[in-house]
Amino acid sequence: MIIVMKTHAEPKDIEAVVGRVEELGYKVHLSRGEARTIIGVIGADEHLIQNSTFEVMDGVERTMRVMQPYKLASRDFSEANTVIDVNGVKIGGSKIIVMAGPCSVESRAMILETAHAVKAAGATVLRGGAFKPRSSPYSFQGLGEEGLKFLAEAREQTGLPVITEVMSPEDVTLVGEYTDIFQVGARNTQNYSLLKALGKQKKPVFLKRGISGTIQELLMSAEYILAGGNMNVMVCERGIRTYETATRNTFDINAIPVLKELSHLPVVADPAHGTGMYQLVGAISKAAVAAGADALMLEVHPDPSHAWSDGAQSLTPQRFAKLMDELRLVAQAVGREI
Ligand code: PEP
Ligand code: MN
Repeated sequence: MIIVMKTHAEPKDIEAVVGRVEELGYKVHLSRGEARTIIGVIGADEHLIQNSTFEVMDGVERTMRVMQPYKLASRDFSEANTVIDVNGVKIGGSKIIVMAGPCSVESRAMILETAHAVKAAGATVLRGGAFKPRSSPYSFQGLGEEGLKFLAEAREQTGLPVITEVMSPEDVTLVGEYTDIFQVGARNTQNYSLLKALGKQKKPVFLKRGISGTIQELLMSAEYILAGGNMNVMVCERGIRTYETATRNTFDINAIPVLKELSHLPVVADPAHGTGMYQLVGAISKAAVAAGADALMLEVHPDPSHAWSDGAQSLTPQRFAKLMDELRLVAQAVGREI
């Protein structure tokens, strides 16, 4: 249930409502807007509470039932889009954010070179995997902490915030020492112990849709992080498994407007994993921007033919720069900027 307080409700009235929610044994989620405070009532059986319990209280304008199984992630909970501030880079606002970099950090020289190249072309966040979730145990698994150190150095040199994947709850502290945004990959979207651990800390979380996950499952996973107290969550469409074999995954363009409708969280598109082919990345990136994505995640490698992972879907820095120019026009056409 959501309790909408009157504009400029008195602090004592807000306190009284919060006290009543807690007295009934539910958790409170307080969202203070410019003029209005919204109080989320969180609990497994919150549907049992009667609306009148709160509607008779001073300062309460109305109460609302959230029909979806996800509460804090739902659009009912916040009409306004969530904007996540990462060292001054705002994700979810009018500017479309481009996160670019290699699939894996392969060496110090390689990540520094890529970081400078993507920054020059207009990227605002640097991506790079140090802990890699590979389908085969024999494939390159990432440089681990050494890779994180190289990413941190690239941030120092370029000023770009960094995003990197965390695969297990035990690694949250270590990865958190270096990264600005935690990435949860498609294989871990339903790793609930990882989601709970990320909910307990403050850094933003970038949550990918599961390999065969539904949009509802994605939002339920986001809910785990939000319910833990971390409201800085963005969700990402990265393609799903279908019967189609012409591409690595089927990029679900519908997911973008559907997520924007159902949720207030920023929506990211990942056309690299969504297609698996660099030749298609441009078309799907443009489609994603036109469809309303708040950010793009793109794989860029100085020499894709020698990449240790995902070379086939990686853009060269030259192709990336050209695409950025094209994306600026699409962004403009839909009233946004890159
Ligand atoms: C990645 O971003 O490199 C990655 C492993 O993506 P996904 O989790 O979407 O497969
Ligand atoms: Mn990859």
